[in-house]
Amino acid sequence: MIKDFDGEKGNVDLVFDEANQNKDYFNLICDKNYSSSGKLKNVCISVKDSIIVKDVISRGGSKILDGYNPLFSATVVQRLVNNGAIVVGKTTQDEFGFGSFNVNVGKGFSVPKNPFDSERSCGGSSGGGCAFTQKCTGEHISLVESTGGSIACPASFCGVFGFTPTYGLLSRYGLIDYGNSLDKIGFASKYLDNIANILGYCIGKDENDSTSLDVNEKYSIKSLKGLKVGLVSEGFDVDEGVKNVIIEYLDTKKVKYDEVSLDFSYKYGVAAYYIVAMCEASTNLAKYCGMRYGLSDEIKGDFNQYFSKIREEGFGNEAKRRVMLGTFARMVGYRDAYYIKALKVKTMIIKDYKKKFKKYDVLITPTMPFIAPRFDDIKNMSVVDNYMADKLLAGVNLGGFPHLNVPVGFLNKMPVGMLVIADHLMEKNLFRGWL
Ligand code: GLN
Repeated sequence: MIKDFDGEKGNVDLVFDEANQNKDYFNLICDKNYSSSGKLKNVCISVKDSIIVKDVISRGGSKILDGYNPLFSATVVQRLVNNGAIVVGKTTQDEFGFGSFNVNVGKGFSVPKNPFDSERSCGGSSGGGCAFTQKCTGEHISLVESTGGSIACPASFCGVFGFTPTYGLLSRYGLIDYGNSLDKIGFASKYLDNIANILGYCIGKDENDSTSLDVNEKYSIKSLKGLKVGLVSEGFDVDEGVKNVIIEYLDTKKVKYDEVSLDFSYKYGVAAYYIVAMCEASTNLAKYCGMRYGLSDEIKGDFNQYFSKIREEGFGNEAKRRVMLGTFARMVGYRDAYYIKALKVKTMIIKDYKKKFKKYDVLITPTMPFIAPRFDDIKNMSVVDNYMADKLLAGVNLGGFPHLNVPVGFLNKMPVGMLVIADHLMEKNLFRGWL
């Protein structure tokens, strides 16, 4: 395990070579930059396409942002670069983060393949970042993003650690919005201590994001000793093989646990999450109309005709679906029935989890109900099947609780992930001896 970043110069060459050998995981690979100094000298970061980097085309995986060249970097990127980190490139994702299998890519983008089996999904929406993390042998950390599980899911399918912080711990400034009340930047890495280490460089109030929290802490890995663990029974209604790998892992680690029930959260999590996420997504996408960012054309006809033409050309199918569903749910008469109700459910879910965190330091479920699915099988899934794949991640993300995918073993030669969930700002309970 890498104990600390030590920033060998050769590391930059190694990671760039590996990025070039794995182009499928990138929407863009940067020019190599050697002039790095600071505590993160020569440490490479790959950045999800939706997290903007100054002077590096950033499109959130969408054709509608073709040619968008940001004038500044996201706060998290800037804080890392200020300490010497080097950006390798922009990793592939579902368009704007809309998906769980990284097959909902924008027009003209390719679908990344799972590093263990090219006929299977990397998971989404941060598929490229997690897959490259699995492949990369150099010192590298991937900046990824989760609205409703987009870090944990691909981390689980690719067999790496995937960390999502408490909502607000990391600034969202410079993150291309999906759902503002849900979006969180986080990390994927093969090494948990690298995640704990790098997190310390990124936190702290950012005046450009009013929801960012004023936290100043250093994180390190502590032992599992004394950790009070609750296993959420509703979370174990999954593939029998996945369940067995997790229970065996907990037994080998001699982790003691109680079974707990979070019936409400698991029953209503997916429905409430998708309403909030789509309502917010539909308002966020309204700014992409061919006037300010990315794709544009000669203005012909009235504004509505022009906007429709740009959106028809620039958005993929899932983005269009979410604009329609989100707009519908926000319409006069429906707003209270859907969006406001979903926000009430969110509050109840938070209360549900908080009650458990009075007694337990962490709660555990599988991360995904199954191993990485085959592309053939994904084709046969309905839209609702797609959304239900997030059943173990929706409530946790809606509540803004920090969570971690731990790669715990293999089933049919594919990785299995275990989800560890902690109370708000109790990240230290995730940073334990999970390997
Ligand atoms: N799969 C979920 C969705 O499609 C989560 C995506 C995300 O976290 N960006 O909304």
